[in-house]
Amino acid sequence: MNIILHKSDLPDDLDLGNLIAVDGEFMGLNIRRDPLCLIQISTGNSDAHIIQLNRNDYKAPNLIKLLNDEKITKIFHYGRADLAFIKYYLKTDTNNILDTKIASKLSRSYSDNHSLKTLIKEFINVDISKQFQSSDFGGELTQAQLKYCANDVIYLHKIHDELNKILIREKRIDLYKQCLKFLKTRVELDLAFFKDDIWAH
Ligand code: MN
Repeated sequence: MNIILHKSDLPDDLDLGNLIAVDGEFMGLNIRRDPLCLIQISTGNSDAHIIQLNRNDYKAPNLIKLLNDEKITKIFHYGRADLAFIKYYLKTDTNNILDTKIASKLSRSYSDNHSLKTLIKEFINVDISKQFQSSDFGGELTQAQLKYCANDVIYLHKIHDELNKILIREKRIDLYKQCLKFLKTRVELDLAFFKDDIWAH
């Protein structure tokens, strides 16, 4: 596994291709209280680019351009959280999204566990540690934290491929695409403090 740490932004000339996996780490789950600290990106070739954001100005033009680019597809696992933090701190929409958690909920209706750890075990047969899920991503990062962050993106291409096959086989792929279209609206609702299911009675 090749882990590359970038300070503040991606380098100017880095081409990561047109299908990337993306994840973010925050200081907590309260968007206005807890800053976005890291964005991790993988091309799917056992690499992880970890961008340690400058929390004073969040100036990251190359990263923002990449996230906004309609032509580059981004695979998230539960993008609902990442997209809200990205919008709030980096002030950009993230376009052209796939989501392994949504794909899992629609395809793996035989399971009630859709965590990334479970999907990595089922489709990659690797047991990853979530020990550093709740750790301080605001300061200098340890090797163990870097590895944890990398784990969150390096398997997403393969997992999405496998889930996509099930969605096609089970004729749920259109439903998945409709859910992805709604994701941006769901994020806007979260940012406007409509946290509950607005369709509920
Ligand atoms: Mn993560």
